[in-house]
Amino acid sequence: MARKALLISPELCIGCRGCQTACKGWNQLPAEKTKNTGSFENPADLTPIVFNKIRYVEVPSEKDPVRWLFVSQRCMHCDDAGCMKICPAPGALYKTKEGAVAFNKEKCIGCKLCVAGCPFNVPRYDAKDKISKCNLCEDRIAAGLEPACSKTCPTGAIKYGERDSLIGGSKKAGFAKVYGDTDLGGLGSIYAFKDSPKLYGMEENPQIPESIVFWHKVLKPLAYWGVGGAVAASLLHYVVIGPHKDDEEVKKDG
Ligand code: SF4
Ligand code: SF4
Ligand code: SF4
Repeated sequence: MARKALLISPELCIGCRGCQTACKGWNQLPAEKTKNTGSFENPADLTPIVFNKIRYVEVPSEKDPVRWLFVSQRCMHCDDAGCMKICPAPGALYKTKEGAVAFNKEKCIGCKLCVAGCPFNVPRYDAKDKISKCNLCEDRIAAGLEPACSKTCPTGAIKYGERDSLIGGSKKAGFAKVYGDTDLGGLGSIYAFKDSPKLYGMEENPQIPESIVFWHKVLKPLAYWGVGGAVAASLLHYVVIGPHKDDEEVKKDG
């Protein structure tokens, strides 16, 4: 099957946050209390119950007091996914046939290593320490529907479709390079930026941390040679994050 993707065109986004609300509605995610941080951006970050949010960026403008840029922040559904590389629990993270990176909470062991493996700071953990993030509306797609966010967007700033056609269409429309076209094997959330991606707070040249690559090559096979997932996860935790410290030690260090 041809790989599918979300094409995000920040230039078309009006910051209405319909996509945030539709995502919450479809995925039955409750509201949460937020604080005024001096910006219209709300909430300020992804959380276990916010899979997709609009980042508001204010940049200086010659014409107006300020220029507002809006961009959707969410899981990038990487082809070469750092979260999947590091995950020691088989089946906790998996690829759908459309190319989305989805998850199974029942198989997640709560080690949080995928947080270290993700170059985009996406995975969050719920109250039961289970991974929580955008799954590209896996259930809607399986039912022949498009994701809730793209379905709702009134301006076409989020489009869902065949990845190659979306990239081809953007190039025809004058975008020399689509963000995510080739990064990490090709992202499943791709962006047609008119300005520099950096201006929108996007990582240029995102990379999976070296320690994760090491784990993938050297340590992960241990899990399949009979060293249990929990033991492999502890080893890995040591390599990637460092030795475990109890609360007293953390307080002293702090
Ligand atoms: S953005 Fe992060 S969580 Fe999403 S697929 Fe890529 S590595 Fe995994
Ligand atoms: S694809 Fe679905 S889960 Fe992901 S951000 Fe869009 S609405 Fe939310
Ligand atoms: S629904 Fe579309 S226009 Fe509205 S904030 Fe989301 S991406 Fe932007």
